[in-house]
Amino acid sequence: MTKKITVLVCGGGNGAHVTAGLAASRDDIETRVLTTFADEAERWTNIMKENDLRITVDEGDIKSGESVDFKVKLNCITKDPSKAVPGADVIIFTVPAFAHQSYLEAIEPYIQPNTTIVGMPGQPGFEFQVFDVLKDKAKQCVIMSFESLPWACRIAEFGKFVQILMVKVNLMGCLIRGQSKPSYDPMEAVQRVMGKAPILTQANNYIEPILATKSIIHPPIMYGKWKDWDGKPIEEKPLFYQGLDEEQARYLGGISDELVATAKAIAAQKPEVDLSGVLHLYDWYLRDHKPYIKDTTSLLTVLQTDTAYDGLVHPMKETEDGKFVPDFRYRYLTEDVPNGLVVTKGLAQIAGVPTPYHDEVIAWCQKQLGKEIIVGDELKGKDIGSTRCPQRYGINTMDALVNIM
Ligand code: NAD
Repeated sequence: MTKKITVLVCGGGNGAHVTAGLAASRDDIETRVLTTFADEAERWTNIMKENDLRITVDEGDIKSGESVDFKVKLNCITKDPSKAVPGADVIIFTVPAFAHQSYLEAIEPYIQPNTTIVGMPGQPGFEFQVFDVLKDKAKQCVIMSFESLPWACRIAEFGKFVQILMVKVNLMGCLIRGQSKPSYDPMEAVQRVMGKAPILTQANNYIEPILATKSIIHPPIMYGKWKDWDGKPIEEKPLFYQGLDEEQARYLGGISDELVATAKAIAAQKPEVDLSGVLHLYDWYLRDHKPYIKDTTSLLTVLQTDTAYDGLVHPMKETEDGKFVPDFRYRYLTEDVPNGLVVTKGLAQIAGVPTPYHDEVIAWCQKQLGKEIIVGDELKGKDIGSTRCPQRYGINTMDALVNIM
């Protein structure tokens, strides 16, 4: 029997329902939920008085080893960090990245040494933000950041019923241990919450997942598709991946080239930093999506024929006359620019790698977001504080980047 741990899940959305539900199904985990958003904590607490939380795995799945339909009771759901945080061994953030700052500020006064703080997903820049808010306390903690959510999932009925639509096979995360000495194994603790799948793997260092991030996919496709749009509503929602054209693929490939070049430049200057896990997007698709791809000729054909993307369309808003216009406030830009492309641009800037593709795409995206982040090819716009690039946190040199502890 492993030592019992206390897991605190921060959030109240799709992923938080699943994470809390899975944790609560383990005998050796005490589960708490902190949701500071609106009246979610009160609503969910009241629901739990009369109901259990039901979780189903739609794939019927086997890979996870979970039963496909089970119920759990959550006994501690609160919006009060003074009740939720003390005594928590592992704190898992399962919220969109824009909410990370407010959760970090909420938990900061109560954080104790040897706590593990997990971004699930963390997305690029999570570590910088944790260090910025928790300051010296962060050095006493384990910081982990995973590249995505382990599942595709959605709430069917708030507080009562959540569906897992797909379970990932593997999930990569980084681990920064600092001076902490927890009495449990942090990676094992998070794996214990997940169960058998996905299998959690540890990146070589925290820089590797940033340069391998998939947050760079959406903005260049949006840019290539809409940069010359005439503003007139269109009849149908265009396919996002399978509708890719050569120009969109060129921007996507160009950005991926710049990340590979950045990894090489960092490794040349700091040979001790192993970035061998930073693959070009094309190679990553061939490795992780191969069974779904019909034509592997190029990045363009890979995306056009990837059946894992069947039917996925551009984020669109419907007009009064039933036509469609692009939604530039969707997370493909609002999340993936400040917590994706701008962070990778920041690393490239520190490594001294020119990034014409990043610069052109960010320049257009910032206009859609009503912000000034990049000026020319430098991250020095007045709204840099709304992003998580290293420069925003005063990290401007390779030494500072490599030694963030
Ligand atoms: P979600 O959309 O369900 O999150 C909504 C929750 O976020 C709310 O219930 C609330 O608890 C919190 N929230 C919303 N606005 C807030 C605010 N202003 N302040 C504080 N908290 C606020 O998110 P999710 O589906 O659980 O996804 C979490 C992350 O994982 C996102 O970044 C998402 O892009 C990513 N992701 C999700 C899926 C999925 O299938 N759901 C798959 C892959 C990646």
